[in-house]
Amino acid sequence: MAALPRTVLISGCSSGIGLELAVQLAHDPQKRYQVVATMRDLRKKEALETAAGEALGQTLTVAQLDVCSDESVAQCLSCIQGGEVDVLVNNAGVGLLGPLEGLSLAAMQNVFDTNFFGAVRLVKAVLPGMKRRRQGHIVVVSSVMGLQGVMFNDVYAASKFALEGFFESLAIQLLQFNIFISLVEPGPVITEFEGKLLAQVSAAEFPGTDPDTLHYFRDSYLPASRELFRSVGQSPQDVAQAIVKVIDSARPPLRRQTNARYTPLTILKNVDPSGHLYVRTTHSLLFRWPRLLNFGLRCLACSCLPGRVRPR
Ligand code: NAD
Repeated sequence: MAALPRTVLISGCSSGIGLELAVQLAHDPQKRYQVVATMRDLRKKEALETAAGEALGQTLTVAQLDVCSDESVAQCLSCIQGGEVDVLVNNAGVGLLGPLEGLSLAAMQNVFDTNFFGAVRLVKAVLPGMKRRRQGHIVVVSSVMGLQGVMFNDVYAASKFALEGFFESLAIQLLQFNIFISLVEPGPVITEFEGKLLAQVSAAEFPGTDPDTLHYFRDSYLPASRELFRSVGQSPQDVAQAIVKVIDSARPPLRRQTNARYTPLTILKNVDPSGHLYVRTTHSLLFRWPRLLNFGLRCLACSCLPGRVRPR
């Protein structure tokens, strides 16, 4: 007899990685997944519904979920048949870019509320059921910025570091309940995420920031960031495919980077425990040798390198 489909709840499905993942799982040829694709604002469901096509109402349903609201989480889970979630994908996230002095604490708290406490809120809600059934899989869309800091992304990176520490700690306890955790760490991905950030940045004045820092932000960081997205940016389809493999896996990995072209940048941190190699090399590339940085990024983008990390 065929196994019952697994219920997969995904946050942040109105665009980007969440939308692609929901559609790919819902189109599984063997119909192994019942996808609950959630979003904060149901008025934005059209793109998802169009991409879902015939899967809509069959293997994919759309539901409202604001990860910053306890009531919204409770309401969403109460609509799932039996209230049981087999796979939870914490995907919803927001960025924050710019010199620290010019950012409000409220904006920083919103990043943590969404990226960190949003995931914690969902996990607290599904965990009792998973523990009772002695099975489950929690996938977290983290980032390479959960592994290494990136200039002018201080608060966003901190929120992803927080996720990494929280879920690595939880993973140890949950193995005892046959529940797996996977942290997926994409590099740059070409979604609305970067566009929204750049629009925010061009409208912001960053009050209280000194001219030197503003100059470094606008004339060193932003051009390098654009080049990074142009050269090694992945498509949301590619990242979703990598997440599908993680969900499919019999022994899901705790960590999974999705972009082999970005790996050389994370290696700098891994090979030198003192931290100097990563911080000083990145500093020199940005401030002293920006042309070498651009050349290096173009080399990374070269098609003779593999496009994706292969599943282990
Ligand atoms: P995106 O902006 O297309 O998707 C983010 C989604 O989260 C949006 O649909 C947004 O509406 C939703 N969201 C924001 N606040 C929410 C809330 N309170 N409740 C529910 N949903 C909310 O961008 P994306 O690139 O698809 O981002 C998805 C995830 O991938 C994020 O966690 C992001 O941090 C991570 N990520 C993105 C990149 C990148 O370069 N785009 C790189 C690494 C990791």
